[in-house]
Amino acid sequence: MDTIKNWNDIIDNLREFSYVTKHEKTFALDKFSQFSHWYYFPNEDTFAPSKFLGYRNTKIDKYEGKGWGGVTQNALSRYFDQVPSGSNEFKNLYSKLESFANSLNKKISFKTRHGTGGIHMPKKEYNQAAQYSQKLYDVSAADISAIKDEDGLEEIEGAKKTKLVNFYERIPALRAKAIQLHGLKCEVCGFNFKDRYGVHGVDFIEVHHLKPLHTYIDPSLVNPKTDMAVLCANCHRMIHRNKNVPLTIDQLKELWKKYNS
Ligand SMILES: [Zn+2]
Ligand SMILES: [Zn+2]
Repeated sequence: MDTIKNWNDIIDNLREFSYVTKHEKTFALDKFSQFSHWYYFPNEDTFAPSKFLGYRNTKIDKYEGKGWGGVTQNALSRYFDQVPSGSNEFKNLYSKLESFANSLNKKISFKTRHGTGGIHMPKKEYNQAAQYSQKLYDVSAADISAIKDEDGLEEIEGAKKTKLVNFYERIPALRAKAIQLHGLKCEVCGFNFKDRYGVHGVDFIEVHHLKPLHTYIDPSLVNPKTDMAVLCANCHRMIHRNKNVPLTIDQLKELWKKYNS
């Protein structure tokens, strides 16, 4: 089992761990009270344990608790600092962790507070990464109101479906994450708004949701890495041209290649 290679690997595992609260029964939930090293994510205001976070591509439904905690703690120590257990910060985080455990009807391992375990916080440079995603979040939120204004007329037609299709594409947190993961270049034609419009185009791109929406209703189950793509405004319109059945990215890519080579 490979350990995590970068911050994004950690965030992928964190997202996966958040599913723990959505499933009735998982091995990770069964083992909750045995996890002793907990990692806090200020941006998401949540925790995940070292053995779940430290290996690459941990999947909640396949998690079997294999591996040795020491290996994952070591891999994670590049990104996190342990909070001194006597400090006020530790007390605050511990009570947060306690309410998290309570919400799942679980107890925290004795070791976390009184033994070899502990609570860890991201190092400064990774808080800066969080600030970057906050900036994208703000830009996304502004773009969304702009799109809403433009689309106002269409909505009078009562196109409920269009609204639904666009629902996930318009959640700023999901957009910000998708942009962080996929970048700012259209995945079909390569268009980059900053290259073509300068400063005015900085951080602009549209986010497209790949999965049919009826497959899930809860935004926390959308994985921006696998369920979302970034597209320029033209390609995005073309993909949704048939409102009920969007093209796939590959279908549009094929068309684009056919007429642009
Ligand atoms: Zn494009
Ligand atoms: Zn779309």
